[in-house]
Amino acid sequence: MPMSPLMKPVNLPAGKLLINGQWRDSVSGKQFATVNPANAEEICQIAEADAADVDLAVQAARDAFEIGPWRKMAATERSKLLNRLAALMEKNLEELAVLEALDNGKPYFTAKAVDVPLAIACFRYFAGWADKIQGRTIPINGNYFCYTRHEPVGVVGQIIPWNFPLLMLAWKLAPALATGNTIVMKPAEQTPLTALRVAELITEAGFPDGVVNMLPGFGPTAGAAIASHMDIDKVAFTGSTAVGRLVMQAAAQSNLKRVSLELGGKSPNIVFADADMDAAIEGSHFALFFNQGQSCCAGSRTFVDEKVYDEFVERSVARAKKRRVGDPFSPRTEQGPLIDSDQFEKVLAYVEAGKREGARLAAGGSRRDEPGFFMEPTVFADVTDTMTIAQEEIFGPVMSIIKFSSLDEVVQRANRTMYGLAAAVWTRDIGKAHAIANGVRAGTVWVNCYNVLDAAAPFGGFKQSGNGRELGEYGLEQYTEVKTVTVKL
Ligand code: ADP
Repeated sequence: MPMSPLMKPVNLPAGKLLINGQWRDSVSGKQFATVNPANAEEICQIAEADAADVDLAVQAARDAFEIGPWRKMAATERSKLLNRLAALMEKNLEELAVLEALDNGKPYFTAKAVDVPLAIACFRYFAGWADKIQGRTIPINGNYFCYTRHEPVGVVGQIIPWNFPLLMLAWKLAPALATGNTIVMKPAEQTPLTALRVAELITEAGFPDGVVNMLPGFGPTAGAAIASHMDIDKVAFTGSTAVGRLVMQAAAQSNLKRVSLELGGKSPNIVFADADMDAAIEGSHFALFFNQGQSCCAGSRTFVDEKVYDEFVERSVARAKKRRVGDPFSPRTEQGPLIDSDQFEKVLAYVEAGKREGARLAAGGSRRDEPGFFMEPTVFADVTDTMTIAQEEIFGPVMSIIKFSSLDEVVQRANRTMYGLAAAVWTRDIGKAHAIANGVRAGTVWVNCYNVLDAAAPFGGFKQSGNGRELGEYGLEQYTEVKTVTVKL
């Protein structure tokens, strides 16, 4: 296993599929390599799930839902299991952070301080909901007793991305388990390691067999088999808008399974001249460059008031040039490698498009001369709304700074995109802050902050950034069906 000299040694999870509580090879016997993005070398081989494995996992999840102990279990017991899993993750926090950094390339110290603790907090938050899911009594006309029950949807397929492997796993598993569903999950092919380790901890925590089935594999094969399966009741997907469309089509053409989607973004981050400029510059840097820029809610359209535009550009360029790129296991590192060569090429192509279309490249723009997928922090100034880099999701460390002159104008321009995931505003004027919060069509608006995510606060997209909300009380709706019961008195 190739690794950084600074990395703590760690045991890799067995590269197998978890189906019905058993670790097994794939039906085809095929395997694939998971790669360390910091040096482009293979970490280990992983069993590759395909349609036949999905069939087995769905059968296991169906049996666990209909005949296993799970449905009869008291809600407080589900809560205890979720808390036990959170405690096991906490016990193995460092190991999970090492695996996350190794497989994804994100800085280890960020994984340890952010990704793993937030994932644990998500399990604890939804553990608290497990025994608080209740319906209503409804005074209908006539002599009847009418009430609702909030029941689990059933067998849920969950397809997650590689940018926050552990956190996206938690956002999906925790509410689905709290509400009593059973699950077939496919982690991203680039980052199966922490999902497999959590699957081991799920078994150790004592969840009944078949409640969680973990199937690493590729999108067009295993992922598509989940989206089109006739016996999956709901699919929850996080990833690109293009694949989200395929998932919804597959659901429509199979059994009309429920679909929730958390997709791409091109989030406006709006800086007014009256903002605390130090906070706005550092916050906008963080909004874009966090997680190597590989974040669906990245503040990838930085709109800056013309009164402070030149100062903002100059200082943002200086900050980007200081950003420390390197070994994910070094405590100094702020930015690790991008996930893989495909993503790398995509980001470089966007940089070329920016240059070609007349944006001013003010920092970075190139690959670093190292074997891994390291990209220089890149800043474009003089970006206009119609340029490709202002329209399309780049998913890399490329900042685009755009000039604006008035509040009404910036709201309109901020909304001129097919996306609506997040937005932010930096200002000391409470009136402007609320005008942006009301005017921008996005699922989340941050005022004088960015990337503040909490298990209790709903997250999701307007427009083509998706449908449905994850997290918080709203997140429970994705995983429950409402049943109306009417009794003649
Ligand atoms: P990205 O472009 O960020 O890799 P994707 O949307 O391609 O995002 O991938 C997100 C998840 O969707 C991954 O788990 C991937 O394997 C899966 N996926 C990709 N293609 C399909 C597909 N056709 N059907 C279902 N899942 C897919």
